[in-house]
Amino acid sequence: MNKTVLVVGAGLGGLASALRLAKRGFRVEVIEKNSQAGGRMNQIKKDGFTFDTGPSFFSMSYEFQEFAKDCNIDLPFNYFELDPLYTVNFSNSPKIFYLHKDIKKLAEQFRDIEPEFEANMTRYLRNSGKLFHDTVDLVIKNNFNSWFSYFTTLMRVNPIHIPVLFKSFWQEVRQNFSSTAARQIVSLVAFFLGRTPFDTMAIYTLLSYTEFKHDGYYNVEGGMYKIIEGLVAELKKEDVKITYNTEIEGYTQNNNKLDHLIDNEGKKWTADIVLINSDAAVFRSKIFKRKAYSEKKLDKMNWTMGYLTFYLGIKCKLHQVNHHNYYLGTNFEEYSNNVIQNPDTLQKPYYYVNVLSKNNPDCAPEACESLFFVCPVPNLQYKSNWDDKDSIVNSIIADFSNRIKKDIKPEIISKTIYTPLDWQSQYNLHRGSGLGLSHTMSQIGAFRPANFDEEFKNVFYVGASTIPGAGLPMAIISSKLACERIEKFSNS
Ligand SMILES: Cc1cc2nc3c(=O)[nH]c(=O)nc-3n(C[C@H](O)[C@H](O)[C@H](O)COP(=O)(O)OP(=O)(O)OC[C@H]3O[C@@H](n4cnc5c(N)ncnc54)[C@H](O)[C@@H]3O)c2cc1C
Repeated sequence: MNKTVLVVGAGLGGLASALRLAKRGFRVEVIEKNSQAGGRMNQIKKDGFTFDTGPSFFSMSYEFQEFAKDCNIDLPFNYFELDPLYTVNFSNSPKIFYLHKDIKKLAEQFRDIEPEFEANMTRYLRNSGKLFHDTVDLVIKNNFNSWFSYFTTLMRVNPIHIPVLFKSFWQEVRQNFSSTAARQIVSLVAFFLGRTPFDTMAIYTLLSYTEFKHDGYYNVEGGMYKIIEGLVAELKKEDVKITYNTEIEGYTQNNNKLDHLIDNEGKKWTADIVLINSDAAVFRSKIFKRKAYSEKKLDKMNWTMGYLTFYLGIKCKLHQVNHHNYYLGTNFEEYSNNVIQNPDTLQKPYYYVNVLSKNNPDCAPEACESLFFVCPVPNLQYKSNWDDKDSIVNSIIADFSNRIKKDIKPEIISKTIYTPLDWQSQYNLHRGSGLGLSHTMSQIGAFRPANFDEEFKNVFYVGASTIPGAGLPMAIISSKLACERIEKFSNS
């Protein structure tokens, strides 16, 4: 008889693992706390508008292709490459930077402020590309059984990369570029890891290579949630049942084996193997009550920032705004050094705007636009009260209106706001931290909460707070690594 697997959580990591396992002959069932699948990659349908709630593009598209091959399916969604990747707008200048992968086209925009930009960017990307190729297969796409195996693997990485271990992302970028604008623009990608360029290790400059050179960024036709709908449809074909509105709150054990998980209604769930897609640190803390993950210890860990996100339906078109846009102020360094811990920086917010309806007209009624704003904010460790959310959102709307020279306030016909409190309660994210555990030296590789349980031999983990880390391609890689462990356990 084939072994049974219970997957807890229908985020991208959980769904991708469920499909890989079902295709390998496991009998899989998924339970999810919320009323629909997707986790952080979710969707709001409201007032005739459709909004993606979290991710708005992805990199490393070949990871999705490899996943489809592994499952012997055609990818159940269509994606297209972004060009420009995004725009960057500074508050003290009317100039819009269009971030093209074509370095010549990109360099053209820096001609007046950094004439040597093309040479600088080429050298920077050569180095970050080397870093990427020397580490991705060896370190990022690998399971480690112990700290020892992790260290011995790191010893195999080309020693020319040792200096980046001792530098920040910002320091590396500063060495490569001379203008303030180029430095700030190139280092924006560090924010995608939920921290700032000043407290992110220079190792992650490899992300610049993934965005500008290697593969770029991709959007999904019809919106990002099509990825989730496609996976749910594939799971249905494999007879994988997803039970919604079911939150795991407790457990029973039998020696070193997990016996049952217990849900919010007191119902017991059992399987030969359990795969947890709920945050790997939070689940160990809240459900398994592990000492190493006590509330106090969780708070001592390094978490990513929170996000204030809001979703606006407006009854006009914004021809002057592109699909993906960053709006920056004039105090980048001061802002970055404060944004994680100091709520006062919210007086001068930096934010991202996604016009989903630009490339996906079905996501808004005719002559309307569907807008998604993301503003990095302190997580609940540093700002727990969000009674001021409306005034912060209004200040961003006013700033945005001013920059695009169109007052959108009277045009708003749909509005939804998520603060870190909502992100926490909807997806069980510690202190509303948007991307889970940060990617600091002591929280990556074998130091990140492992994808196998320390006590229960039949329990495994997948998702952002286990290896390799946050982001959609990482969730796909995480599912591969977790499934490798499960297969090995099952055959042992
Ligand atoms: C605002 C925002 C923007 C982002 N933008 C991007 C982007 O543009 N590109 C990109 O690549 N990444 C982006 N990310 C990151 C990306 O969304 C995540 O890394 C990824 O979706 C995480 O997937 P996951 O499977 O690890 O976890 P989740 O999506 O968190 O899934 C976990 C699931 O488990 C469920 N669950 C939790 N606890 C329980 C329980 N006790 N019982 C039952 N179910 C439970 C949750 O409800 C959830 O559905 C963004 C994230 C945010 C918040």
